[in-house]
Amino acid sequence: MEDYQLLIELHKAGQRQGPGGDEESAKALDMALLDGSQPLHVADIGCGTGASTLVLARRLNARITAVDFLQDFLDLLAEKAKGAGLSQQIQPLCCSMDALPFGDQEFDLIWSEGAIYNIGFERGISDWRRYLKVGGMLVVSEITWTTASRPLEIQRHWEREYPEINVASAKMQQLEKQGYAPMGYFVLPENCWRDNYYRPMQKRFPAFLERHGHSNEAQAIVAAETEEIELYEKYKAYYSYGVYIAKKLD
Ligand code: SAM
Repeated sequence: MEDYQLLIELHKAGQRQGPGGDEESAKALDMALLDGSQPLHVADIGCGTGASTLVLARRLNARITAVDFLQDFLDLLAEKAKGAGLSQQIQPLCCSMDALPFGDQEFDLIWSEGAIYNIGFERGISDWRRYLKVGGMLVVSEITWTTASRPLEIQRHWEREYPEINVASAKMQQLEKQGYAPMGYFVLPENCWRDNYYRPMQKRFPAFLERHGHSNEAQAIVAAETEEIELYEKYKAYYSYGVYIAKKLD
C-alpha cells in the first residue's frame, strides 16, 4: 500500500484531520457576524471529513460546497451529513483547491480550516478572492507565530515545512494588500491541538500498527506524527493556528 493510502486511513478515522474545534468554528462565525438569518452560499475548502462543514450546516441557513481532493474523506462527510439530516445543505466536491470550478462572486462565505497552507496563504487568499461576493467573508486558519521571536530549532523546522509561516500582523497585512478588511483574529487554544486532534490520533496508533503488521511504512507514519506532537508539546508557546476573519472589499 502506498504511504499516502496509509496516511488517509489513519486520518479518516478522526473527527477532524487538523487542529480545531466546533466551539472555535462557531466563534469565528460569530466574529464574521454570520447566523441563520439569511440564505448563504458557502464553500468549505479542504474540508476533510467535514468537522467544520457540519458546524456551518447546523448554524447557518446555507448551501455548502464542501471541497477536498480526497474522495475517501468526502464519502465519510456525506455519511455524516446524512446521519445528521444535513445532506440537503451539503454538496461534496472532489477537486483540488488550486483548480476550483467556481464562477466569480458565487459565494457569501469562503471557509478553510487547516488547509490553505497546501497552496500557501498568499496564493489562496489571492486566488479565492474572485469567488467571493463583494462584502463576502473569508474565514481561514493558518499556521502562525504567536511571538515575535522563538528558539532556533522550531524556527528552522517551520521554515523547512512551511516557509510562509509568519506573525499575525504580517498575515493581516497580506489580507489588506489583497483587498480584504480584517474583521477579527484569534489563536486556536491548546485543547484544539491536544484534545481534538493529537490525543485521538495517538489512541488510534496501536490498532493502526496492528492492522498493518507493524510494517515499516506504518511505523514511519506513526514516528513522523509522534515527532510532530513532541515538537508541538515543546514549542507550543511559539506557534498555533491563527483564525483570520476578513471581508472582501470592492
Ligand atoms: N478542514 C479539515 C479539518 O480541519 O479537519 C481538514 C484539515 S487537513 C489538515 C487538510 C485537508 O486539505 C485534508 O482533508 C486534505 O485532503 C485537503 N487537501 C490537501 N491538499 C488539497 C488540495 N490541493 N486540494 C483540496 N484539498 C486538499
